Amino acid sequence: MRVLVISDVHANLTALDEVLADAVNMEWQGRTGFDAIWSLGDIVGYGPWPNECIQRLQQFTDHLRVAGNHDWAALGRLDVEEFNREARKMVLWTQQQLDPASLAYLRGLPDRPLLHEAFTITHASPRQPVWEYINNGSVARENSGYFDTPYCLVGHTHVPRIYRLTPGAEPAQVACTVYGPVYDRDISLTGPHSLIINPGSVGQPRDNDPRASYALLDVEQALWRYRRVRYDVEITQAAMRKAGLPERLIVRLAYGW
Ligand SMILES: [Zn+2]
Repeated sequence: MRVLVISDVHANLTALDEVLADAVNMEWQGRTGFDAIWSLGDIVGYGPWPNECIQRLQQFTDHLRVAGNHDWAALGRLDVEEFNREARKMVLWTQQQLDPASLAYLRGLPDRPLLHEAFTITHASPRQPVWEYINNGSVARENSGYFDTPYCLVGHTHVPRIYRLTPGAEPAQVACTVYGPVYDRDISLTGPHSLIINPGSVGQPRDNDPRASYALLDVEQALWRYRRVRYDVEITQAAMRKAGLPERLIVRLAYGW
């Protein structure tokens, strides 16, 4: 089974559509297309098209998904004071936009990690599925005891990364090696280790590369392939300006931070 792995779409329909088109058309191992979508949370928040992004993903019946902190915030399940000023403004704006169908979709998102064969699927971390940032090796190491599968897929940081966790002589001596993304090359996931893997963000990348980030996964062969696709950032920015969204959030899309 070939899976399109996406995270942190953040209501950026222009980026999402570009990713979907790229994944549909990309030839990999002698075929194109994908069989399922795994969406690691934060479908809404920051961007101008929350309902439209939800509707787009609902067109795919084979679609595993989990809740992110912005999805929860849009439902009023998190205290908006936890967010910074601009993010807070976006939470309130998003709450005003969501139609009943979108609210029902967001309410149905699980807040616990999902399991699919060798994969644990969560938004932030297996230890704290909605909140924790796995942004360095020591946090990754601390999370190694919180999932039982060989691989754990996470989003939340908006930065594509692979954390390789190798057991040591003692249970506490897990070693972690951090890898940045290598694009358009097959990455074999198998080995005497477990991995925490982040596909990066579709709608608001934060690794100084404004292109939308995603990955394709061959589940049976445990092969991973990072992709980066250009989308028309200015279309998203224009829609955000028209909606009166915070300038800092508009500007950052052009820089990927
Ligand atoms: Zn996010």
